[in-house]
Amino acid sequence: MPFERKSTRQIAVGKVLVGGGAPISVQSMTITKTADVEGTLQQIYALAAAGCDIVRCTCNEQAAAEGLARIVPRSPIPIIADIHHQYRMALAAMEAGVHGLRLNPGNIRKPEHIKAVASEARDRQISIRIGVNGGSLDPSLYEKYGGITPEAMVESAQREMAYFHEVDFDLMKISVKASSVPLMVEAYRQLSEVTDVPLHLGVTEAGPPPAGLVKATAGIATLLLEGIGDTIRYSLTADPVEEARAGRQLLEALGLRERKNIDLIACPSCGRAEIDVIDVANRAMQAFGDRKIPLQVAVMGCVVNGPGEAREADLGIAAGNKRGHLFVKGRNVAVVPESEMVDALVEWAEFINEHGTEAAIARVDTALAEREAAKDRAKLMNDQGDDVNHADERIVEIRRTVSDR
Ligand code: SF4
Repeated sequence: MPFERKSTRQIAVGKVLVGGGAPISVQSMTITKTADVEGTLQQIYALAAAGCDIVRCTCNEQAAAEGLARIVPRSPIPIIADIHHQYRMALAAMEAGVHGLRLNPGNIRKPEHIKAVASEARDRQISIRIGVNGGSLDPSLYEKYGGITPEAMVESAQREMAYFHEVDFDLMKISVKASSVPLMVEAYRQLSEVTDVPLHLGVTEAGPPPAGLVKATAGIATLLLEGIGDTIRYSLTADPVEEARAGRQLLEALGLRERKNIDLIACPSCGRAEIDVIDVANRAMQAFGDRKIPLQVAVMGCVVNGPGEAREADLGIAAGNKRGHLFVKGRNVAVVPESEMVDALVEWAEFINEHGTEAAIARVDTALAEREAAKDRAKLMNDQGDDVNHADERIVEIRRTVSDR
């Protein structure tokens, strides 16, 4: 564990543990009509394949609750029902067998309704997330604090918790989301000071990528690095599969979850690049898709510096002289035509994943591959020289321009 996490209580959402040192889980939400059982299940399967651990489906009407009754037994991951205005939908969702509920305290406000739901959840041992949302704060709190403030959001969560405690219900987690990153960060910080209930992190209505990804990452990563947060969701205006991927990738990048898929690294490209690095990297990303190959794979623009710069990668490819030079742990292993670079990467990655890097190196003549790479490297150096960006010429030009004035 690279940094210390704040200790929280542990709850179970179906088979997934949340809090109390359990791996941080990734959540997402379906965007189908929940009554469309097959369509919703298809999306759930795609989400699970992309690294989603828990999925939320809206339960806004009776047909949705009936859909959940058919979805729950066929879902590969636990299902949470999203409840907004009608507490009866929460009771119906529990009847359908969901593993958890999400209640928005701003939308279900009658204490007897909240307590009726919490009592039923207690009897069935179903968890509930108190999902405070800056945008739908209880008007009385809005008035008390003069707007949406971290303090108002924390008090909203505490009020809801108090109702839960009255009926001896404690299988809860809390979120205090807002679309403003500084506001949500501060709200979560304050909340984590006053409770050990597991926290669900998110920036609500983050918007479409890439801006939405940046906002969500800024908020979620800041808190995770402070040890706050037990489960996360990216709320993007995009295919929910992108949310699941982003969540998973963030946790892997922070070292909070084991790598499951390819970690594709690529050089930023420069005047030396022999290929369109962005295009090859994107095609490689697509070719690997959601395959479960936990390797670091590098796409490098030139064979002059590529293999050295990416020597820590499990596998990589560098372009040179219309050819792709494959290297494993920095050692040249094969040469392929430029048009076959992506296919070769996938084939080698699959082999390494199954047999390991040693076996991959042993199956080829590395001396021959190194000789070929040296040849292309020498040709590039010869053609382009050391000063590939023509800095020397530019400097002469700059000096002339300045001295002319
Ligand atoms: S690997 Fe080659 S092309 Fe890519 S940044 Fe380094 S020198 Fe430039």
